[in-house]
Amino acid sequence: MQQTHYTGSCLCGEIQFAVSELDREMAHCHCTMCRKFHGAAFSTFASAKDFRWLAGEDFLASYIGNNGSQRQFCRQCGSSLTFRAAGAEHFEFALAALDTPISEHPDAHVWVDNRANWHNITDDLPQFSGGRGCECRHQQETP
Ligand SMILES: [Zn+2]
Ligand SMILES: [Zn+2]
Repeated sequence: MQQTHYTGSCLCGEIQFAVSELDREMAHCHCTMCRKFHGAAFSTFASAKDFRWLAGEDFLASYIGNNGSQRQFCRQCGSSLTFRAAGAEHFEFALAALDTPISEHPDAHVWVDNRANWHNITDDLPQFSGGRGCECRHQQETP
């Protein structure tokens, strides 16, 4: 019985978290809200059933988007840390905040229709125009 233990933190190190096992699905999300939240071409969010904060919860600030989704970040260093769809029980966390190597790998690109036009996807992972499942509520569909 193997138990992998991963830890992560924000840029300043005040906020720390741990997970034991990552859920299988983790995608690179190109939605506009993730791009702006991360200040990057795309975000990579993962989820884990046993996600837990280890330190620094007092440093968490949150932003509620116009689609009701909640994003948490460190109010001291600005690191983007979590995403929770409106009404969802669990949140996803920014994979890039992990400090330990992982054996799992992202398996898809989602919200590709919203991607930055200066970014080219060069890997062979499947691409989804919108959300695939857990990411379906990252962004409201634009008319
Ligand atoms: Zn911080
Ligand atoms: Zn997104």
